[in-house]
Amino acid sequence: MSVIINYERFARFLEGFKMYIEAKSGEQLNSFADNSFFQSEEGYKADLQTKVLANLSLEKWKKNLIGTGFISEKVLEAINDCGNLIHYQQKIHFKNKLEEDVTTVERVLYFVFCGTNDRKAFNEAVKCFGGKYDLLGYLFFIKDAKKYLPIRSTEFDKRFAFLGIPFSTTRKCSAQNYFEYISIMGELRELIQNKYGFEVSLLDTHSVIWQLEEADRYVSMIEERQADVALLHEVNQNTFSVKEKITEYIIQPKEKSEAIVSNGQRIYPRNRQIALNAIRHAGYCCEIDSKHESFIRRNSEYKYMEPHHLIPMSFSDRFENSLDNEANIVSLCSNCHNEIHYGKDALKLIEKLYYLRKDLLSQAGIEITLKELIELYN
Ligand SMILES: [Zn+2]
Ligand SMILES: [Zn+2]
Repeated sequence: MSVIINYERFARFLEGFKMYIEAKSGEQLNSFADNSFFQSEEGYKADLQTKVLANLSLEKWKKNLIGTGFISEKVLEAINDCGNLIHYQQKIHFKNKLEEDVTTVERVLYFVFCGTNDRKAFNEAVKCFGGKYDLLGYLFFIKDAKKYLPIRSTEFDKRFAFLGIPFSTTRKCSAQNYFEYISIMGELRELIQNKYGFEVSLLDTHSVIWQLEEADRYVSMIEERQADVALLHEVNQNTFSVKEKITEYIIQPKEKSEAIVSNGQRIYPRNRQIALNAIRHAGYCCEIDSKHESFIRRNSEYKYMEPHHLIPMSFSDRFENSLDNEANIVSLCSNCHNEIHYGKDALKLIEKLYYLRKDLLSQAGIEITLKELIELYN
């Protein structure tokens, strides 16, 4: 089968992923095997597979050992060494099944590791263990990491949805679903290879897709900061009238504008007037503390303040209404604005502003919890 994938989105993601890896490692990305950050995050999976496979001592497995406990002891060890690749409930399930019926379990395990019909073996394993996807994916991955991968179904479903791939694995554990998953990952592998121009393994592909959300968040924040600076520049072009009164505005949900895509980046348009309204409404003070000092603008009597979108505009996809709403724009002094983007204690500022704006955001049809907001900044 061929994957229906949003290529533009995937290509954009890969551009960003490269930026993310290069920023985190401080190295140019020439291969995944040579990149210190990629290896420190994801390299354990390859090491684990090599070690666990060696410990299985498959060369000693013989048909007449089925039912003796030898095979299950080896596999139990492999499962205990799985790191985070199998959910603990599935590990317990394996142990329970083993206590119930050693012979059946060992017959299936022998079929999985020493048989030649992997599809059939997968289905036999489903019959024996039930739809324990992590567990089964792990066994096949241990058997042959060049052909197979571990799987965490709900997590991968989220990532497939992000990439616009209409495929899901949750509660669909079967040979057919697993082999389709492997084939999709194979196609993604080709795309990554073509984009980066170096050899990429199936396991590397797994790692890239696994890190997708974190990388996307990183890139979104960079795009956000660039758009922020552009807005700041526009706001600073405005001539403030000395006698200008604070204009009242009504907070209500606003319709979203479409993102503008240029150079592979998605920018959500920001309206200068809305930003100005928000700064005026805050009385040209910093909303972290109105006593924060700033200089006086060249073109007015007011203190210089900067607009900041509390929920970053780059996450507009996740919201029904526009985030470019006065309710979502805070007025900050330059110092606080930089701190919220780059500071060690930025979360304190975010929390304070969240409680300040919670009700207004809700009035603007923007629902978010503090936990969700903090996640966007991480
Ligand atoms: Zn900002
Ligand atoms: Zn401040």
